[in-house]
Amino acid sequence: MQSCARCGFVVYPAEKINCIDQNWHKACFHCDVCKMVLTPNNFVSHKKRPYCSVHNPRNNTFTSVYETPININAKKQSKASSEVRGHPEQNHSSSMHAIQHVSVL
Ligand SMILES: [Zn+2]
Ligand SMILES: [Zn+2]
Repeated sequence: MQSCARCGFVVYPAEKINCIDQNWHKACFHCDVCKMVLTPNNFVSHKKRPYCSVHNPRNNTFTSVYETPININAKKQSKASSEVRGHPEQNHSSSMHAIQHVSVL
């Protein structure tokens, strides 16, 4: 007897879908993300799991939410502020020069 890759229960031929080298109940062959029931004609497989075309992990539209440009900017900002803190004297002397230049004029 073959068991369903989703729920583990026996799959009878009448309700079997054979996809991604595994057996599924027709009702169990749904998108891993939104649970939309899929057919062998419209599913996308990724790491032996079925997905609908919207949640295809290879599109990288919903798995990369946490790598947004906002996070990248935050990393850049924290690096820049630590650099400023690392050279306080340079900033001070340059501002002194500016003041002297103005007073000469
Ligand atoms: Zn099942
Ligand atoms: Zn989906």
